[in-house]
Amino acid sequence: MSGTPDETHDPARQSWVASANGHPDFPIQNLPFGVFSPRGAGPRGGVAIGEGILDIAGLCTTGLLTGEAARAAEAASGATLNPLLALGAGPRRALRGRLSELLAIGSSAEAQLRPLLYEASDCTVGLPCAIGDYTDFYVGIHHAMNIGKQFRPDNPLLPNYKYIPVGYHGRASSVRPSGVAVRRPNGQTKAPDAASPSFGPCQKLDYELELGVWIGPGNSLGEPILVGQSAEHIAGYCLLNDWSARDFQAWEYQPLGPFLSKNFTSTISCWIVTPEALAPFRIAQPARLEGDPAPLPYLLDPADQASGALDLDLEVLLLTPALWERGLSPHRLSNSNACHMYWTAAQMVTHHTCGGCDLRSGDLLGTGTISGPDAGSFGSILEATLGGRQPIVLETGEERRFLEDGDEVFFHARATREGFVSIGFGECRASIQPAPALL
Ligand code: MN
Repeated sequence: MSGTPDETHDPARQSWVASANGHPDFPIQNLPFGVFSPRGAGPRGGVAIGEGILDIAGLCTTGLLTGEAARAAEAASGATLNPLLALGAGPRRALRGRLSELLAIGSSAEAQLRPLLYEASDCTVGLPCAIGDYTDFYVGIHHAMNIGKQFRPDNPLLPNYKYIPVGYHGRASSVRPSGVAVRRPNGQTKAPDAASPSFGPCQKLDYELELGVWIGPGNSLGEPILVGQSAEHIAGYCLLNDWSARDFQAWEYQPLGPFLSKNFTSTISCWIVTPEALAPFRIAQPARLEGDPAPLPYLLDPADQASGALDLDLEVLLLTPALWERGLSPHRLSNSNACHMYWTAAQMVTHHTCGGCDLRSGDLLGTGTISGPDAGSFGSILEATLGGRQPIVLETGEERRFLEDGDEVFFHARATREGFVSIGFGECRASIQPAPALL
């Protein structure tokens, strides 16, 4: 079971990669998988360890791996990690266990592995998978309430919300790794008092603080993934910024949902943080409110309810050009937690497939915006500024109702539990470039 801490989580274990010890994101207890390109060379699979990246293809040639671990490493040595994700939890766990031994202080493999270790700062880290399909959910209940209130003050949650993990099929082609700038989109907007819409740059550009869920083996068409089996199909997690053009969204979203308001870019953190790494930070799915319906039986699994949620702190920071020029710190827009999901990742997987839809290795699910209950924990600027009515004031005296060109948004995630070493996700950041000139 991915849910049980083992020797790979031992807080006493340290790495001979010195930068890993005390690293906020990538201590030896994390070992996330990704795809990196050393300077002047092509992309290949790697493992983040402190400020370093271990080349998995190189590791395959050392003779240090056998059995399932060797199988997983072979699958992780190419330009995408889809083959690794397809193998499922067993080989992935075996590789993690062996990596933990090999990278620990005292490992006799240190001299053999040192030449396979790259400085992350000398590498480009890209998308870990070829993403076939991307689906975005809406399971952050405080976000759904806050947004619903703006549109329907008396009736913020639609009647389906507590029965269905609501989602829609997103756009995989425009998912980009952290660090790639986002171009402000052009599109249609219709002001409430205008007779007809206009075309031009988005005026209400927003971020959405989400988790991404990577699909492991997946299912065949027509063969649903039962909720008790869903955990086996979750290969890991990342941070996801589902950039949103709120003015386009308001005009286009009925009757079929968001389209250009969401499809111009989505930014993800590059490292796949595995369910194994997150085992110490799993918590029970928070109890539903008095009077809420129980999930329908096909979405209800005792083990999933007992440990299907994550205690994961989430943070959103904003750096404007003026803050940067004056050497000031980024402004913290939000501090939320992944526990504010009304549905678990396993329930999302099961609902997605219950009608027979096939999920494939390397598909990406978004959770939807994860807001907390209070101001200061909202996962979008639309919530933080009450739809743009109440601006955020920065240390420079600047105001923001929505994002402006040159702004840079950072997401961080941090899992913490007493008796364990904290791990993080690495950064999910992007700056905003002006919209392309209109024809
Ligand atoms: Mn979203």
